[in-house]
Amino acid sequence: MAAHTVYKEPAPLTDRENPLESMMSRFNVAADILGLDEETYNVLKAADKQVIVHIPVTMDNGKVRVFEGYRVIHNTILGPSKGGIRYDKNVYLDEVKALAAWMTWKCAVVDIPYGGAKGGIICDPTTMSAGEIERMTRGYTLALKDVFGPDRDIPAPDMGTGPREMAWLMDEFSKTVGMTSPAVVTGKPLVLGGSLGRTEATGRGVMVSCLAAMAKLGMEIEDTSVAIQGFGNVGSWTAKLMFDKGLKIKAVSDISGAYWNADGINIDEAIAYKNAHGGRLEGFAGAVSMDAEELLTAPVDVLVPAAIENVITEHNAGQIQAKLIVEGANGPTSASADPIIYEKGISVVPDILANSGGVTVSYFEWVQNKQGFKWTEQMVTERADRIMTDAFEKVYQTSLKYNISLRIAAYVVAIDKVAQTYKFRGGF
Ligand code: NAD
Repeated sequence: MAAHTVYKEPAPLTDRENPLESMMSRFNVAADILGLDEETYNVLKAADKQVIVHIPVTMDNGKVRVFEGYRVIHNTILGPSKGGIRYDKNVYLDEVKALAAWMTWKCAVVDIPYGGAKGGIICDPTTMSAGEIERMTRGYTLALKDVFGPDRDIPAPDMGTGPREMAWLMDEFSKTVGMTSPAVVTGKPLVLGGSLGRTEATGRGVMVSCLAAMAKLGMEIEDTSVAIQGFGNVGSWTAKLMFDKGLKIKAVSDISGAYWNADGINIDEAIAYKNAHGGRLEGFAGAVSMDAEELLTAPVDVLVPAAIENVITEHNAGQIQAKLIVEGANGPTSASADPIIYEKGISVVPDILANSGGVTVSYFEWVQNKQGFKWTEQMVTERADRIMTDAFEKVYQTSLKYNISLRIAAYVVAIDKVAQTYKFRGGF
């Protein structure tokens, strides 16, 4: 690649739905139910701000490669914007815009004082050295120093990023403002002001909201089997916490393939195997290989998509056997699959509710940084569990009130909160 070209691999051409359109089609249904006024509708459908940056990075071979990065601020009426940063070769602007809007709805559903944002860089971190990723992260932070800020916009990890990248971001931002600023980013290592309980927080929220939904459906823990797509942060923690509760995890998968055990997979062994084998399950002896697509339609009671977007579509929704889907990933179900799933009577705990445990504990991390006081793990989990169960109950009651799916109910709860805030603040 010539030194002056911008590293920008095109998103793969697939028949998959555009996540922004998926998000908007649910937003439109909820807006109709609420009778949302046209002015607020128009404000909420567009992102407040979209920034595109080009980050020159000296690669280990001495050549300079320019990476394209994004930060989209969807809305800040409820507070500073919050949202992760994704490093992936398939990052594209519409995806970042959808993810930013989902953050607005997610924070509103769990009633925390944040708006929504998301960022990403088109890159393949699996082929880059730690030094290259560090220089790229610092370059991205510098390019966005006027966007980020503890009371403006607070990034966090997403796919391809973790505590290491957040530490570099915090350090670079701190240098630009001339003081240590831990509250500018969450998902930091513990020693830099990270929160106890953050790493497992998203998986824990998925487990808590799954149990809440199972209770409404009259499903007993000991009779319930689960399939989980994705075995990264969200998938493996969901699996571990469900396994510890006594649910039978019959299938798990990651990028290397899917693995099945009708008697239940020992998740402690699966995690130990993954950690010892470069983060992958390939070759795990505690289960047999199964077709990766078949995991989604396997004979289980609960399906947890916890990897990527648009995996449940109109092509496979009709074959799903689970009674309950709990969305660990953001946007795993395309909008075209919604009516098929609804008709089949499958309950779906939607992404903006099910995976909001992560942003909830990110919020706790930010509060602790601002307080300069560290909470115990028990304080974190008790408060997060309460927020998750309260949010689930509110969404559930809304679904009963309007006779709608939990997904549309979650959008109704979120949009209503944001719309009411606009009404009180006024000032268009
Ligand atoms: P991660 O990078 O830690 O893990 C992703 C996992 O998915 C890996 O096991 C990977 O091998 C697997 N995977 C990728 N493509 C796959 C495919 N086609 N089939 C099966 N498995 C595949 O990412 P994560 O942080 O666990 O995030 C997963 C999802 O959850 C994303 O949609 C993310 O936006 C969402 N999410 C994450 C958090 C969080 O706190 N990490 C919070 C909310 C939502």
